Amino acid sequence: MLKVEHIGVAVTSLTDSIILFEKLLNTPCYKTEKVDTEKVQTAFFKQGETKIELLEPTAEDSVIKKFIDKKGEGIHHIAFEVKDIFSEMQRLQNEGFVLLNEQPKHGADNKLVCFLHPKNTNGVLIELCQEKV
Ligand code: ZN
Repeated sequence: MLKVEHIGVAVTSLTDSIILFEKLLNTPCYKTEKVDTEKVQTAFFKQGETKIELLEPTAEDSVIKKFIDKKGEGIHHIAFEVKDIFSEMQRLQNEGFVLLNEQPKHGADNKLVCFLHPKNTNGVLIELCQEKV
């Protein structure tokens, strides 16, 4: 894996959290994007090499809504950038990790993504992401 590409944070109000993170990081939000397949509205901040991705649920059955109901707002996932998502998915599967999607999905920010089941990763939801070319 190349680096921590971003950290995903589940929030109840993107509007409030954008203001908060702009103050916290002293940098403007550079992009918001709705991801219909994941039922989330996202907002991105750059901090050095790493980004912060804020995630607000857009539907009652959004996984982010379920996460907030269960655990409250907070860190939802850590995303690692990979060079070749297909080979990395294969490698991790061979190592016994459970992939939450068999094929890479189209995520926010022009990425192909795949999530690992947190039961095998000390409870941390891990995302693999690769820039679409
Ligand atoms: Zn993410």
